[in-house]
Amino acid sequence: MSAEPDGPEDRLRRFATIWSRALYPVTATSLTRPEFESQLLPLARQLRQDLAERVFRAADCEAVGAALVATHCTEPEALSRTLDVVDAYLVLYCGEEAEPDEAGRAGGVGEREELRARCSRIQHAVAAGFARALRERTRAEQEAISRAALEARGTVAEALHASEARFRAVFHGAAIGIGIADLEGTVLEVNDALIRMFGGLEHQLRGRNVAEWTHPDDSPHVWKLYEELVRGDREHYRVEKAFYRPDGTVLWTNLTVSLLRDADGVPQYQLALMEDTTERRLLNLRLRYEATHDALTGLPNRTLFFERLEKALAAGESARFGLCYLDLDGFKTVNDSLGHAAGDRLLVEVADRLQSCATAPGEMVARLGGDEFVALTTGPDTEHEVDELAGRIMHALSTPIRVEGRELTVRGSIGIVEGPAAERGAAEVLRSADITMYRAKHAGGNRYELADPEADARAITRHGLTTALPVALERGEFFIEYQPLVHLGDGSVRGAEALVRWLHPQHGVISPDRFIPLAEHTGLIVPLGRWVLEESVRQARTWEAVTGADQAGLPLRVNVNLSPCQLTHPGLVSDTVEILERAGLAPGALCLEVTESALIGADDDLLKPLRRLAEMGVDIALDDFGTGYSNLANLRRLPVSVLKLDRAFTQGMQHFPADPVDLKIVEGIVSLAHSLDLAVTVEGVETGAQADQLRELGCDTAQGWYYARPGPPDRLHELALADAT
Ligand code: C2E
Ligand code: CA
Ligand code: CA
Repeated sequence: MSAEPDGPEDRLRRFATIWSRALYPVTATSLTRPEFESQLLPLARQLRQDLAERVFRAADCEAVGAALVATHCTEPEALSRTLDVVDAYLVLYCGEEAEPDEAGRAGGVGEREELRARCSRIQHAVAAGFARALRERTRAEQEAISRAALEARGTVAEALHASEARFRAVFHGAAIGIGIADLEGTVLEVNDALIRMFGGLEHQLRGRNVAEWTHPDDSPHVWKLYEELVRGDREHYRVEKAFYRPDGTVLWTNLTVSLLRDADGVPQYQLALMEDTTERRLLNLRLRYEATHDALTGLPNRTLFFERLEKALAAGESARFGLCYLDLDGFKTVNDSLGHAAGDRLLVEVADRLQSCATAPGEMVARLGGDEFVALTTGPDTEHEVDELAGRIMHALSTPIRVEGRELTVRGSIGIVEGPAAERGAAEVLRSADITMYRAKHAGGNRYELADPEADARAITRHGLTTALPVALERGEFFIEYQPLVHLGDGSVRGAEALVRWLHPQHGVISPDRFIPLAEHTGLIVPLGRWVLEESVRQARTWEAVTGADQAGLPLRVNVNLSPCQLTHPGLVSDTVEILERAGLAPGALCLEVTESALIGADDDLLKPLRRLAEMGVDIALDDFGTGYSNLANLRRLPVSVLKLDRAFTQGMQHFPADPVDLKIVEGIVSLAHSLDLAVTVEGVETGAQADQLRELGCDTAQGWYYARPGPPDRLHELALADAT
């Protein structure tokens, strides 16, 4: 080790050295190893640049793959060794912007992950470039060989009739394998190229009969064509054919066989021209493997699974199939709290366990993506087997998985579809399984459920709504109703809560309880929530213009609900500020409602945006308070100024006399809230008796049907003006 740390150029050279050592043994180059290394150096430099580039340029990396082919690195092994070297050493030697830490790794965790991500994209692009270049080269070669084969055929025929010497020269100099047999199939002559292809032993070929070279992969027409040729009914044929070499390994060839006639046109010999395609086949198999398998877990991927499922569904009238669609419960939490590396390890372990559940013939397991897996069974008794399979999967997941020194409990929800093949298409089957899986998840997870067409139909409307949601926002199908917030002391209207509705072209008005969860699930909640905020803020500004301030000098305020996903969205603070400024509304006229459950266990990062908004003067209300299990002492930490008591408490006061325990709880909450300087709003007030009771208990504001149902915005300032007079 030298005392001076290596410069970037030294490190680049070391990378090129490692790369050339790995590649050299598997290339067909005539260069020496150091010469070969100097050819790799510019390619290494290119890769280093690609790694440093913020904008990923796939074409540059593909060019590196193509350059490898041009330097005679055409074996599949050369590609896989290159990918291994890039994977293991590129970031280490060429990820140099950041200083290496004591373990020799570059940069901070975030940067390292970024480099790793870029490195894997580089590998993909290099592989793609390599495969394309090889395909092009193969095509060019094939054309040359076909040309050569035609020429050879002509020349051999000519040579046979002319001089023996000339015949020998053509025969032995040819780059492709050539063999001559009589019409009984006995091999008379083979050239050196053919002998090499078969492992180098001439006596293993000469004198043998062509018919001995049957191979299990021969298609029946191979031998039919052969029969026609030796009978003289056909001049030539071309097939792809496998042979066993004497050592038992398989040789794949493109085989062209031609009939040679004598000067009078009587069939005499058959001439075989063979091109070795074994390596190309291997590479194709490998590329196909990569295209049909998941890189992380090695399981078949979605593409291969669909192929198998389609095959199973096309298996005929009497065939049945069974399918388990598995989604892990709470996987996102693992990913978010322990990091993606831990999440990946968990998925690999889950994949291994699943694989061991489906080992019988006709069974397969695949990863569809993320934490979603499927298991397929096609045995004779799938009705019974698919249940057993689901049971095995649940059991396999029941032992905790050790990741980074922690025991993680893994649970999953499974949707099962079983039935006769030939009734449905693959996409439909998978959708039914997906819907059923969601049903299992909604029932609490850690269970399996069987598809049921009726439940499917209900859920399909759910699916239908989900797909219609994004367009609905574009088409302006949402509208907002406002429900007044009334001061319990003097009965004046202080503001309103904005409640969104969806006017669906077919289903009419749909309540938020039905579509908000879907919008949260699909992420549409962020633009939808922003739209609600924009509309409501504009509306509040209109009220202000019409009614002015109330007795206390405050304008009518508007309450807007925020979903948990909006809380974590980075644009929350800036969007809100911009919306308020554009409408010209004071921050104090806006109150954002956040549910108690969204803030349970919230850390400072989550609270920061809310705190910023509160500092600006926006009120934050804790919605549905009392339904979660938040620690009352915790309230002090939260940047909230209003508690909204859940409807459940109000319901307890519907009957007279009210439940004394409820009364005590509400009384306790109100006094605690007031001691923390929080105002208390009650929801769901439906009767005057409830209103009186809640006023006595010290609640500040109320909302409910007793005062008004949610309605159009104009009604609100009518109410407000009415009670001002
Ligand atoms: P929430 O925030 O608890 O809203 C109060 C719900 O109680 C509203 O239901 C309202 O119509 C209903 N309500 C009002 N007074 C009474 C009453 O006296 N008795 C009874 N039984 N119910 C009453 P709605 O409009 O169906 O909204 C349901 C939930 O949908 C809301 O519950 C809120 O969580 C969510 N939501 C509504 N609009 C939005 C929105 O713009 N964004 C987000 N993220 N969620 C929203
Ligand atoms: Ca609310
Ligand atoms: Ca509420």
